[in-house]
Amino acid sequence: MDIANPSDEHVMLREMMRDFVSEKVEPQALEYDRSEKFNLDLFRSLGEMGLLGITAPDQYGGSGLDATAAVIVHEELSASDPGFALAYLAHSMLFVNNLAQNGSEEQKSRIIPLVSTGEWVGAMAMSEPDFGTDVLGLASTATQRDDGSWLLNGRKMWITNGCIDEEGTPADVVWVYARTGTDSKGRSQISTFLVEKGMPGYSVGQKIIDKTGMRASNTAELVFEDCIVPAANLVGELGESLIHMMRNLEIERLCLAAMSLGIARRSLSEMNRYATERSAFGQEIRQFGQIQRHIGESWAKYRAMRAYIYDTALHLNLSQSGNRLDSDGIKLFAATAAKEIADAAMQVMGGYGYVGEYVVERLWRDSKLLEIGGGTLESHQKNITRDLEKTPEVIEQ
Ligand SMILES: Cc1cc2nc3c(=O)[nH]c(=O)nc-3n(C[C@H](O)[C@H](O)[C@H](O)COP(=O)(O)OP(=O)(O)OC[C@H]3O[C@@H](n4cnc5c(N)ncnc54)[C@H](O)[C@@H]3O)c2cc1C
Repeated sequence: MDIANPSDEHVMLREMMRDFVSEKVEPQALEYDRSEKFNLDLFRSLGEMGLLGITAPDQYGGSGLDATAAVIVHEELSASDPGFALAYLAHSMLFVNNLAQNGSEEQKSRIIPLVSTGEWVGAMAMSEPDFGTDVLGLASTATQRDDGSWLLNGRKMWITNGCIDEEGTPADVVWVYARTGTDSKGRSQISTFLVEKGMPGYSVGQKIIDKTGMRASNTAELVFEDCIVPAANLVGELGESLIHMMRNLEIERLCLAAMSLGIARRSLSEMNRYATERSAFGQEIRQFGQIQRHIGESWAKYRAMRAYIYDTALHLNLSQSGNRLDSDGIKLFAATAAKEIADAAMQVMGGYGYVGEYVVERLWRDSKLLEIGGGTLESHQKNITRDLEKTPEVIEQ
């Protein structure tokens, strides 16, 4: 069995993605990176293909597919356009999958059909200007009013899909974490709210421009100023956000690792081809030992990433947390491996590798975000060490 294509359904999905990527994604990737624009029409065509609600149940308009399928889609998109893949991830995993796993019947039946087609673009807002890794310190607050609705105040930073265009049109729906009090032990009580476009007090503070990479995805600061959120838009029970975060974090990190895999595969493929095409000192550069080191080490890293990522996908249960060790492990390993492989590709390709037309320059810039977003390398190191203290026996299994 090929661990990356465990069933006929997965093989067909990968083939469909490869066709779509070569016909529609690759031709626009450089242009949208240069202009720092999000390709909304292309994004909506993923809805027509049933991919925007890939892991959401069919009964709400999703496709009901598993974690391996989600990995395949992220890997294939990212092999061409990681920025576009990041916008896809923020919508389909950080919003749609989160809602599918944690929302009420009313919330799911009303919103999933809209986000599965792409009529609505979704985002997830956890990070704030002063709180990133230290997420439980977040400062946004929600207080309940007499009529049961909520008054949300605060700012969220770095929100992928936070705006959908250059005019600062906000995402149609955002999954927002806010503090609703403190528990009996004095710890923050964090709750989850669905904020929809048009709710008073919800706006885009700024579209963040001039990013190193991932420029084909919009990143925004969101502002909530006495934003009125109906009682029905509280997700789950008060103070339940930790459960929501834990349930969604593993698939988020798995798919970010899958994006690294796409970057690694494409970079390896580009450097391998170039090493034959390019000659120096009367021979193909692949004959040089130093070039062989770049290619050989990249291949080994790529294969190790692929095995670890798809093995983790195979064991990931979308409705339950419990695989944090490996979702942190794959992201920790894959993010840096992808950056190193993109760097090796650029080195093999010399001056050509350094310009946009030859693709790896863009992948090299995009790869860095994966060491920061969805958890920094340091947070993965911290979590892994903590988990291995609790369950040292997993090392010997
Ligand atoms: C392009 C982009 C898209 C993003 N999209 C989203 C999104 O859609 N939604 C969202 O909510 N967020 C998003 N983020 C935010 C991202 O998740 C955060 O940037 C990330 O969690 C790190 O937080 P920070 O930037 O505040 O850095 P900080 O947490 O301030 O970290 C700064 C440095 O300190 C280190 N550090 C912090 N705490 C510790 C510790 N305990 N031990 C060791 N080292 C530590 C960090 O590892 C890092 O090196 C995005 C970010 C970017 C750049």
